[in-house]
Amino acid sequence: MARLRIRNIGWAATPSAGLENPYTLRRPAIDTVLVENGTIFWAGKSSEQPDFPGAEDLDAEGRGITPGLIDFHAHPVFAATREAEFELRTAGASYTEIAAAGGGILNSVKRVQDETVDGLCDFARPFLDNALAHGTTTMEAKSGYGLSTDGELKLLKAIAELDRTHPLDLLPTFLGAHEYPLEYRENHEGYLKLLTDEMIPAVAQSGLAVAADIFCETGVFSVEESRRVLTAAKAHGLAVKVHADQLTPLGGAKLAAELGALSADHIEFIDDEGVDILASSGTVAGLLPVAAHFLRMHEDPPVRAMIERGAICALATDFNPGSAMCENMQMALHLAAIRFRVTAEEAIWMATAGSAKALGLSDRGALEPGQRADLVLWNVPSPAMLPYHFGINHAGIVVKGGRVVARNGTRVQ
Ligand SMILES: [Zn+2]
Repeated sequence: MARLRIRNIGWAATPSAGLENPYTLRRPAIDTVLVENGTIFWAGKSSEQPDFPGAEDLDAEGRGITPGLIDFHAHPVFAATREAEFELRTAGASYTEIAAAGGGILNSVKRVQDETVDGLCDFARPFLDNALAHGTTTMEAKSGYGLSTDGELKLLKAIAELDRTHPLDLLPTFLGAHEYPLEYRENHEGYLKLLTDEMIPAVAQSGLAVAADIFCETGVFSVEESRRVLTAAKAHGLAVKVHADQLTPLGGAKLAAELGALSADHIEFIDDEGVDILASSGTVAGLLPVAAHFLRMHEDPPVRAMIERGAICALATDFNPGSAMCENMQMALHLAAIRFRVTAEEAIWMATAGSAKALGLSDRGALEPGQRADLVLWNVPSPAMLPYHFGINHAGIVVKGGRVVARNGTRVQ
């Protein structure tokens, strides 16, 4: 029986399990956490600690503790970075001009075609190590750079291999509907048929994805096309989610709620009705401030209205090589504070309990007995420091499933 005792904890901040009191962090007066077989067994004052023989000892040295951060929206598996495009954008080229010159998502697709599963894993691992060392303990991993049955399955196989061999938990999402591949640019019907009649059944049968996602956007997949693809995914037992209302007010968030999606993500252009529909649904409002920053978006999602009307918001990096080259959830906390004007408490709640809900998980996101022992010990005197003092790594020790997996910015197991 694997036991761990974390003692000498300086402060603790955690959501309540079960989405009680959204956006509120409890501040329990605890200095000790006991972990058994990867699960939190007890948390409290050392003077009241129950007998717990045989435990490995971890001295927190006064650090604060929160649940591990959950990055519910990420595209971490690709074959090449795209800094040349970033340079072009910095010099003033638009995303559309870059795509026309052979860049964008289709550039990533071309590079993935020439890569093996092992090569994809090797390329992704350092990014996953970084994420872990910055306090992320669970991450979503989307495919979407294959855009063919073989290419998508190759990415999903790489994600499964990384999940098996890396301490991070990866939740696999099929994103074959990321973009129309070149050969289907003039034949949308052909690609939609390929998605619904071949790719989705093959992915569902492989067991390599738990959800399906789509880029519902003007010029990409329309609301009608998105409904068709996601309905097929649901019929094959996959949960669904939507890249929605990012660049234009198309109505993707409403579609997400209609289909009972896990989340509607980006939503910079969600309208007032969309906010009400999300608030009265079980669909999470997915906030991606790193992408908004990276793309110099002028529009922000109406986060305060969503919080006030009772929508559940979650926070993620959107880590990907084209529009959010950042695997560090601490930057998401900072940029949510600056761009979306959320408090440290709200941002941390969104990045733990909110993000767990966005992945359909109830076993993590709170520091309570029975929850997974995914924990971060922070080198700061209060949670308010996390979004405030930005650009450096505050994660001192990262515990995943009851094991120390990173210390001072470096993966150790
Ligand atoms: Zn995305």
